[in-house]
Amino acid sequence: MKKAILYFVIPCFNEEENIPETTKRLKLKLDSLIESKTISSRSKILFVNDGSCDNTWNIIKDLSENDKTVTGISLARNAGHQSALVAGLLTAKKYADVVISMDADLQDDINAVDEMLDKFYDGCDIVYGVRSNRKKDSFFKKCTAQLFYKFLKFMGVDIVYNHADFRLTSKSALDRFGDFKEVNLFLRGIFPLIGAKTDVVYYKREKRFAGKSKYPLRKMINFALDGITSFSIKPIRLVLSLGVFIFVVSLIIMIYCLVVKLLGHTVTGWTFLAISIWLVAGVQMLSLGIIGEYIGKIYKETKARPRYIISEDLTENKNIFKY
Ligand code: UDP
Ligand code: MG
Repeated sequence: MKKAILYFVIPCFNEEENIPETTKRLKLKLDSLIESKTISSRSKILFVNDGSCDNTWNIIKDLSENDKTVTGISLARNAGHQSALVAGLLTAKKYADVVISMDADLQDDINAVDEMLDKFYDGCDIVYGVRSNRKKDSFFKKCTAQLFYKFLKFMGVDIVYNHADFRLTSKSALDRFGDFKEVNLFLRGIFPLIGAKTDVVYYKREKRFAGKSKYPLRKMINFALDGITSFSIKPIRLVLSLGVFIFVVSLIIMIYCLVVKLLGHTVTGWTFLAISIWLVAGVQMLSLGIIGEYIGKIYKETKARPRYIISEDLTENKNIFKY
């Protein structure tokens, strides 16, 4: 069988301290995989410079001049981790049969790559790297990360638990991925929607090799909000449910107020005020929910996601998801 061309895609934002070591270790892995005839000798490491303000891009350029297995693209400004990854994946898919994305800081275990490739050759189109534990994380990161996954699940977003963006994706899965044109990107939510054959590989996540995390709390919160608002209209449904609930309560309160009035236990104007407050609030909330439902529809339409993804096509005798 023809050996697949593998591209590593590495987004980098101010990672000058990490890139030389990351390149060294990835090259060792590439060489051994080429030697064992697992992958093609045309395989490469593709760095994506995400608008770094330090020497990151110069280092990448130097490395690529001296070594044909290193290549890169540079984004005009800091577009954010997810957009940098998309830029890398869509560039790599032009040249590669299979792509593995990982962080520049060596937190993802390079040795898990062998198992990922085994699964790829067994017919998987997406292999998720899932961390087996979070022992190396700070208490804060551990708690916020668990909360993030649980909350997303509750909001109806289908993601793989404890999977970040360490992932193998075949060219055919990337072609399907290219059909998702949305600007607000949350890759972990999109890949499960592709419907390709997937599997997971467990790995131990290490500490950052050098430098600080580029995900401060502010970016983490934005990321979580992006995850929810790009995938779920559950918050709109919650407003609608609340509207229905308050409206029903207002009807009960109306009956209660009228009964109290008929029994003569009220001061003048109380019944009118009490009923008005509840009824108006109920009607308003209900109306917001109904308007929200339409906004939800517009939101889904504007994403212009593919309505379906064909995995096999007998008319052309083609298995779309086969390497
Ligand atoms: N990154 C990026 N653009 C950004 C932030 C991060 O390309 O705006 C890259 C970063 O260089 C790293 C990867 O995304 O290779 C993951 O970031 P980081 O390691 O800081 O996140 P953490 O592992 O702490 O969640
Ligand atoms: Mg990291």
